[in-house]
Amino acid sequence: MAPGGVILECPATITSLEQQKTENDVRNCFTTFLMNSNGQADILLNRELHTSWLKRGLRSLPTNFAGLDASRPWFVYWISHALEVLDDYDESIWASKVASFLSQCQHPTGGFAGGPRQLSHLAPTYAAVSALVIAGSEAAYKAVDRETMYRFLMSMKSPHGGFKMHHEGETDMRGSYCALAVASMLHILTDELADGIPEYIRRCQTWEGGLAGEEGLEAHGGYSYCGLAALCIIGKAHALDLHAFLNWAARKQMAHEGGFQGRANKLVDSCYNFWLGGIFPLLHEAFRQKGEDVALPENHSWFAPSPLQTYGLLACQHAGGGLKDKPGKSADFYHTCYALSGLSVSQHGVDGATCVVGDPSNLLQKTDIYYNVLIEKAERKSAFFEKLPPLVVDGRQICGQEGEGALAGRRRALDQADRRFVKANGMRCSTGLVFQEAESHGEKLTAESKASPALAARLSEVADRLDEAFFQHGQAYLQMAAGEGNEAMANALAVVLRAAMEQKQQSLPPEYRLLNNLMRAVPGADPNQVAWEVQDPLELLANAEQRADVEGREGLFMRALNQLLQDVQSAGGPTSWPAAQRLERVRTDAVASGFPTA
Ligand SMILES: [Zn+2]
Repeated sequence: MAPGGVILECPATITSLEQQKTENDVRNCFTTFLMNSNGQADILLNRELHTSWLKRGLRSLPTNFAGLDASRPWFVYWISHALEVLDDYDESIWASKVASFLSQCQHPTGGFAGGPRQLSHLAPTYAAVSALVIAGSEAAYKAVDRETMYRFLMSMKSPHGGFKMHHEGETDMRGSYCALAVASMLHILTDELADGIPEYIRRCQTWEGGLAGEEGLEAHGGYSYCGLAALCIIGKAHALDLHAFLNWAARKQMAHEGGFQGRANKLVDSCYNFWLGGIFPLLHEAFRQKGEDVALPENHSWFAPSPLQTYGLLACQHAGGGLKDKPGKSADFYHTCYALSGLSVSQHGVDGATCVVGDPSNLLQKTDIYYNVLIEKAERKSAFFEKLPPLVVDGRQICGQEGEGALAGRRRALDQADRRFVKANGMRCSTGLVFQEAESHGEKLTAESKASPALAARLSEVADRLDEAFFQHGQAYLQMAAGEGNEAMANALAVVLRAAMEQKQQSLPPEYRLLNNLMRAVPGADPNQVAWEVQDPLELLANAEQRADVEGREGLFMRALNQLLQDVQSAGGPTSWPAAQRLERVRTDAVASGFPTA
């Protein structure tokens, strides 16, 4: 008889006894904390303990070894990602070490192996490429041979759909994820590579709603993440029954412990913080891709983030550093990586809002739900690879991409984070008053199309705060208003920003004023037209007195111009072309008119 007099339907089994024991262990963690604290606000992520434990692990990786250990790239990835989520991955220390270490694991015929002189395998290939994306340097990106990688990935395609893990190896859901995530990270994802994948993954969706590792097996948290993420990357999540998937996933959060179980009738385990926790934001994207008329709850993710965080922070932190699966276990790099990744997912909502249990310092960096590297790193590698010329493999030009689903989803997540940031910061600093001004006088400003004396006076009051952040926030506000179709607000902000720029200009030396004018010329305008527009400032500087002044400053103008041009060019991509074109034109004109070029 259970407490309360309810008669249990079944006799105790090994699994029910283990479940009871786990619940007791977790409850003990909670009560011990409550007896020694002032409540929830005291819950603390012990960052320093974990980061020093992780760094010891990364430092101890041998630079050359001949062991049989086949999971070295995984160790590098787990530790690197855990550190970056904790905001303590120092690129200046680790990037070159990680790149040179992983280069030794790259196979001459493509892909990465678990160690030097071993066979390529899709799992360490995913780990190695992710770790190189985390390293974040061009040298790290270039460590991957994309041509042999593409050949390797194609050779892993299984005739039955999906991908084999290695030559003559098993085909399971991990293969599809590892192959498509790697291709996406390296921008070599093609239609032929993704061919047949949606049908294959659909066949692995079980009667429960989640995905199995192989057709006919049981739904499982890790495989479910892999299959759903693979489909979301290529924008084909509509292949699945998403309602059934959501129904299954939502039932995997444990009522008592707060964490997730990976399968029905299994124990809670912190690595599912991510494997299950990451499924919910992916499902948001999946429903969006399907275009289905589902009321997407923007302010929550269909699971309870606070109990998940409470479980991770009170029951899974190891006193010696690192995180563990559940109370009574020891810490390891795998569980540390995925427990923290899941905490990050649960802290950063799909609408960009944050939810942090305990001390505010517990907030982790935001992870990208498609690759599980920081979202900022995903964006950075994207900027690098999109500029590369098309890849040629065996004489054939490969039209590789990163996958429309991954790109759109990440951009949406970043937009939402920007909005939150701008809203919080724009209103907090005193220059936020300017935006309030724009808000309250929107229509009037639009009608006048120039700053009112009141606005000019306000701007001069806050002149010392018109810094780069101010203009960045302003631009972000403006884009937001334009994106939402709020024309009056967008125009008002344009007026405010123009007036602020004029205010700012007055305090600048003439060279910078000129450069600012150049940058403000209309993007995409006819270069000849632009050249005409900038003739005025050039004539201004041709004035004998100012000219002497400029030369006296040893070519400040040309140096500033060159620097600016360099910045614009290195920003890269089509968006920088008009500005670069304008600046090059001005440089030609300036050199022709005898400006010192020092
Ligand atoms: Zn686990």
